[in-house]
Amino acid sequence: MVSGQRRPRFEGRLGQVLVEGGFLTADQLLEAEQLMMKEGKRLTSVLQEKGWTSKDTLTTVLSFHLKVPVADPRQVEVDPEAVRLVPEALATEANVLPIATDRDGTLRVLMEDPGDFDTINKLATLTGRQIKAVLPIGDGLDELIKRNYSAGADLTGAIDMATRLGAGGTAIEQVPREVAQDQDTFGDGGTDAGSSLTSRNLSQAPVAHAVDMITLQAVKIEASDGHFRPGQDSSKVLYRVDGVLHEGPVVPLTLHEGMVSRVKVMANMDITETRRPQDGHFTMTFGERNVDFRVSTTPTTWGELMVIRALYRDEGLRPLNELGMEGATLISFRRALKSPYGMVLVSGPTGAGKTTTLYGGITELIDGRSNIITIEEPIEYRLDNINQVEVNRAAGIDFAHGLRSILRLDPDIILVGEIRDTETASMAVDSALTGHLVLSAIHANNAAGAAVRLVDLGVEPFLVGSSLVGVEAQRLARRVCDHCKLEREPTAMEAIAYEQIMQEEASEFFIGEGCNLCGHTGYQGRIGIFEFMQVSEEIRRLIAGKSTADEIRAQAIREGMIPLEKAGMMMVKEGITTISEVMRATFVV
Ligand SMILES: [Zn+2]
Repeated sequence: MVSGQRRPRFEGRLGQVLVEGGFLTADQLLEAEQLMMKEGKRLTSVLQEKGWTSKDTLTTVLSFHLKVPVADPRQVEVDPEAVRLVPEALATEANVLPIATDRDGTLRVLMEDPGDFDTINKLATLTGRQIKAVLPIGDGLDELIKRNYSAGADLTGAIDMATRLGAGGTAIEQVPREVAQDQDTFGDGGTDAGSSLTSRNLSQAPVAHAVDMITLQAVKIEASDGHFRPGQDSSKVLYRVDGVLHEGPVVPLTLHEGMVSRVKVMANMDITETRRPQDGHFTMTFGERNVDFRVSTTPTTWGELMVIRALYRDEGLRPLNELGMEGATLISFRRALKSPYGMVLVSGPTGAGKTTTLYGGITELIDGRSNIITIEEPIEYRLDNINQVEVNRAAGIDFAHGLRSILRLDPDIILVGEIRDTETASMAVDSALTGHLVLSAIHANNAAGAAVRLVDLGVEPFLVGSSLVGVEAQRLARRVCDHCKLEREPTAMEAIAYEQIMQEEASEFFIGEGCNLCGHTGYQGRIGIFEFMQVSEEIRRLIAGKSTADEIRAQAIREGMIPLEKAGMMMVKEGITTISEVMRATFVV
């Protein structure tokens, strides 16, 4: 809480104004002041708890009579750029939080006592800016300060320390793999003295601490990837969130090298090899959350580029209907999955969520009777009651080899992670024609395009036609942020796009205005857009007759397929995503 001697000056004045204005009796003020002393609460909180003055009244009195802007710490938006201007130590000590920068450069600072000129002067000297005090109405400032400083400041501190002390590399190599792994699993008793010593004593391994902090930050913001990009003078860390890259910290090159080595140790990669691309993976536990990380390094002019992909295991496995697949599309996809044999494909560009859909589909097929086997690269989610095989190119096991080995195990249902070469394509088609249900992903523009892609890979068109049961195609679109969504007229271009696809007039649609909870992007999370082509006799005939993707697609639409762009616009109509997002997602491959 705020230290005692600062409070009376301002809050005394506030109490006085309230009494003079007839908003509070003198007795009430006296009682409130006693409670403040006893419970360490702020006047505004006590008054609200007692029900003597409402928040609205306080806001009015404070802004008009005392000429101080007010903000509720539980709702105020905080600009991270503003936070960066004031170091954590000062913010914590003075119990203040910079929340925004005005257009003229004035820094708005949330502070318990707007009359505390010592702190205001300190802030002004430090930042070289005018300071405007904003009074927190109600409690919650402490919490807000903690929340805004914790991740970012720990990270900055860790990087600073690692830069000063640890970039030589010796500290990293001392951390053996087992210890590194134990250290990453919090809260499991810590009976092993060795590992708990290492995890507490982070100053011995500042580089490891910097890596931990960057990873923690990535998980906090639910980044899908972290990039460590070396340049001529320094290295940049970038995070991909909802498909878009955001800039993270910039670190010196020496620290970059240290961090790459540290991650290689964690991921069981060769730290002496820096001239060849390498892959590896490791797992970390954050509270109750298990996260798998896949690591790839590639040599560049300035050093090794490292990309870490986070696989949030627990969240990755989701039923089909939670992915955004709905109505007729969901029904026909599920019907296709129930076929005793044949091939069901999931298609789309890279990063469209194909794997999640495949897992969603295969999970629905687990019935305890069927022998389900997968061949994947890599295994992204471990599933119960399913046999999973991983591609291991070093050992000579690629999709085609893996598929051949799998077939000896008498499977009923086979999931092939991806079809991208002729051998895998023809083996998958053969398996589908010999009594197996085969599920796979394929890189293609749309459902009809996926069928044609198999033909392009060299499979006989009539075999493709006979084996295919159905093809799904998908994209990921960003979801409108629920916290800042509002209705708006579409632009002329958006209206044209909507009207062409939907054959109806465009009205108002929801967009996200941008707020703190969505990083001012107006979007939060993503949702799948799906189309599903059932392979009818007519479509079979078209595929076998080497028709183009456009011809096949037109027939599928005539037979009732809701195409991607229409499925997307239907989501726009429901306020789930925006026209521009649907256009971006469905027109780009
Ligand atoms: Zn928002």
